[in-house]
Amino acid sequence: MTASQPAPHTAPSSPVLSASQVQPAWHALPADEARERLAVGEAGLDEAEVAARRVSFGPNALPPPPRRHPLLRFLLQFHNTLIYVLLGGAVAALVLGHIIDAAVILAVVVVNAIVGFVQEGKAEAALSAIRDMISPHANVIRAGRRTNIPAQDIVPGDIVLLEAGDRVPADLRLIHARNLLIDEAILTGESVAAEKHDAAVAEDAPLGDRCGMAFSGTMVAAGQGAGIAVATASQTEIGHIQSLLADVEPMSTPLLRQIDAFARRFTIWALAAAVALFIFAVAARDYGWADALIAVVALAVGVVPEGLPAVMTITLAIGVRRMVARNAVIRRLPAVETLGATSVICSDKTGTLTRNEMTVTRIVSSAGLLRVSGASYNPDAGAISGPDGAAITVRDDDASTAALIISAATLCNDASLRPRDHHARDGQWIVDGDPMEGALLTLAHKAQVDPDGWRSAWPRRDVIPFDSVYRWMATLHAAPDGDGVIFVKGAPERLLEMCAVQQGENGIEPLDMAYWRAAIDAAADDGERILGYAMRHLPSAAARLEPDDLREGLIFLGLTGFIDPPRDEAIAAIRECHAAGITVKMITGDHGATARAIARQLGLSQTPVVALGADIDRLADGDLPAFATRTDVFARTSPEHKLRIVKALQSTGAVVAMTGDGVNDAPSLRQADVGIAMGRKGTEAAKEAAQVVLLDDNFASIVAAVSEGRTVYDNIRKMIAWTLPTNGGELLAVVAAIIMGFTMPLTPAQILWLNLITAATLGLVLAFEPAEPGVMSRRPREAHAPLLSPFMLWRVLFVSVLFLIALMTVFFFSATRGDELALSRTLCVNTLVVLEIFYLFNVRYLNSSSFTWRGALGTPSVLAAIAAVTAGQMLFTYAPFMQIAFDTRPVSLADGALLIALGVIMMIVLEIEKAILRRLGLFGLK
Ligand code: ADP
Ligand code: MG
Repeated sequence: MTASQPAPHTAPSSPVLSASQVQPAWHALPADEARERLAVGEAGLDEAEVAARRVSFGPNALPPPPRRHPLLRFLLQFHNTLIYVLLGGAVAALVLGHIIDAAVILAVVVVNAIVGFVQEGKAEAALSAIRDMISPHANVIRAGRRTNIPAQDIVPGDIVLLEAGDRVPADLRLIHARNLLIDEAILTGESVAAEKHDAAVAEDAPLGDRCGMAFSGTMVAAGQGAGIAVATASQTEIGHIQSLLADVEPMSTPLLRQIDAFARRFTIWALAAAVALFIFAVAARDYGWADALIAVVALAVGVVPEGLPAVMTITLAIGVRRMVARNAVIRRLPAVETLGATSVICSDKTGTLTRNEMTVTRIVSSAGLLRVSGASYNPDAGAISGPDGAAITVRDDDASTAALIISAATLCNDASLRPRDHHARDGQWIVDGDPMEGALLTLAHKAQVDPDGWRSAWPRRDVIPFDSVYRWMATLHAAPDGDGVIFVKGAPERLLEMCAVQQGENGIEPLDMAYWRAAIDAAADDGERILGYAMRHLPSAAARLEPDDLREGLIFLGLTGFIDPPRDEAIAAIRECHAAGITVKMITGDHGATARAIARQLGLSQTPVVALGADIDRLADGDLPAFATRTDVFARTSPEHKLRIVKALQSTGAVVAMTGDGVNDAPSLRQADVGIAMGRKGTEAAKEAAQVVLLDDNFASIVAAVSEGRTVYDNIRKMIAWTLPTNGGELLAVVAAIIMGFTMPLTPAQILWLNLITAATLGLVLAFEPAEPGVMSRRPREAHAPLLSPFMLWRVLFVSVLFLIALMTVFFFSATRGDELALSRTLCVNTLVVLEIFYLFNVRYLNSSSFTWRGALGTPSVLAAIAAVTAGQMLFTYAPFMQIAFDTRPVSLADGALLIALGVIMMIVLEIEKAILRRLGLFGLK
């Protein structure tokens, strides 16, 4: 295919392109020719054309990565050291002729695999559904309007706008590029971002040299540009690389690995102990070697916590689901754990702690102050009024200072504003773009100015976009009389530094610094966000705007102040953080006084300690940790400050969650223990770097996720606190029997049965436990505390001994009564099950008393598990075929009641223990 190929028809009404057509070498075509071939005008495609092209090209989405085959997934359930141990046991039992034992072991393995398979499948499906929730968007020009659409809706011919932090949504032939740098590492492996412009290159240029193209999936590192989509979906370069798609993230986290390693170590110890026990039984206790072998095999099988790893994974997946329900999408699984340990949250102000619903409330020019009423984007709800209260409007030929401010605000502005519904006129207006710029359009309307009319009368030639590092933006316009005009808006201190003069009512005057400082302070103390405006006249409108053009001749015009009220949920969430021992710090690009006032309104602190980015610059790395710890609000910061702040806080041992949205925030998001990107206003680059994406950009969602993270960790601890002692009780009983030389209170088959019936039921319910009351009223856990804390070790030991005592009591009580051995053993199995059920209720409230209504009632999953276990035990005890298989005997009602009484007693003992430990303040319990 060559550039000399005859061009297809160019009549926009007849879609002549199709996906099957051979693609020209777009990079070798001049931009205009690409435009022509794809039949796109300046205004982009119209709706009908888009619809037609969507039919012939389909959605701009790559086929989903192939999922693992279900059979493979099922077989993988068996690929685990613990399972191998169990299977070894089954073979041993079979060889010894213990068919039932072998069958029960196999049943354990299969049940475990099925539970794992089903739950893991659910988790995978849920995680991939969650990934779709943060599918990228793109800005396009269609029918002359800039619109934000899902990247999936792009069709060939769409004009796509690019800016720093965007992920390129399709293969684009660039038609405009300004300082555009694109990171193409995923395609070319080149780590230095490639410079882009709109020129054509040789047809045989390698991918990395095609500077006139932007490729789907690559990331805009800096600058801005626009391009025509020439290939979408699997027609793109990235679409040709299939291997990239199969990036299924392993379901693993540090905690899971810790548990896996623990389970494996535990198993090795259990095997070693089993061998020792076997030797002891045969040598010192005259057991037949076959009997001894099957006993220790059963014991080893019983002790192996084979269900634990699967149940942990399920717990994490449930945590992820619950976090999504609270608007926090987990991109990397370890964040679920880390969130629970978070001790400091560093949050943006605008849009996260505040609503990001801006309204201009004041205009300050050299002539004085104008008030603006209204508190929404609705231009009809409010007006501008002068000192005498009269409404103020602006005429086209107006040269008042206020009119100039409004011109700058309207023209140096990328947003657009529209009523939500043209007919209903419900007063709801929608901003496409920056809310602050939207508020400026509302202001223009309030002054009776038509922004669209002005924008076409003063066409924009060029722009230097806003950047949070220098904090202003500038545009170059051709005035109706042919002159050029530059408008600048930005942080007022910066603009005042750039201007030597100001616009007075009667012409240019020297800058009155004191006047503007006082005006800024007055607005900032009210918590208002402030923008300054400046302009420069040029004899003629050049085509390009360079930073050098702003070095001289700038005239300061004045200020506007915006209110952006705090979110009510954020106020509540900050209070919750304080109760939970979590420090909240605000990091903002905004003015210090504004940030202080908002921090006070939010209840961050009554006397917030405010520091500026410039203060941080002056500090050495060594002094920063103490400084950062002391400071509540960091104002006028740039993204590099964020990085230093995170590092400093981390060096004090804090677990830091940090929010961000811009392309420059990526390093600090990566550095933070939990990087949190904004789902709505965040760039793709920030989302990529983050572990968590907030769907609603809301601070309260972070705190909700922390609470869920704490619950996940609690549930994992509970699972371990429940599993180990129940296994430990059986172990101690059998070991005691062998060592002391009395009859075994449980047969090998019965041990295996216990394992089977309880692991998949009672053990699993803890994964579904809701948050304990008071999760957010304790301090964050120590980040590096081992899972088995001293308290947990004590618990495992104590409860194992309690189980042993109960078991021995029942066994000897029954024997003394003259029961046959089979009945005594049946009683013992039932005792263990009863104890496990009661112990479950205790473990559900590791941190508080279990004797509450809430505790007694349980949850549906608790009740379902208990019903299942009870039904299983009924069969085990009373069904004739089970009586044959497991050598069980029916238990009388009175004996049953006795067992339940034992459970109640154990429960009381454990509550007393909890109370005593708490009273003594042992193990850090409160
Ligand atoms: P934050 O999001 O933390 O409030 P930003 O970095 O967005 O801070 O903004 C910092 C300052 O930059 C604002 O206080 C304002 O003065 C200025 N600013 C923000 N957005 C724009 C914009 N679109 N155009 C010009 N100046 C802006
Ligand atoms: Mg901002």
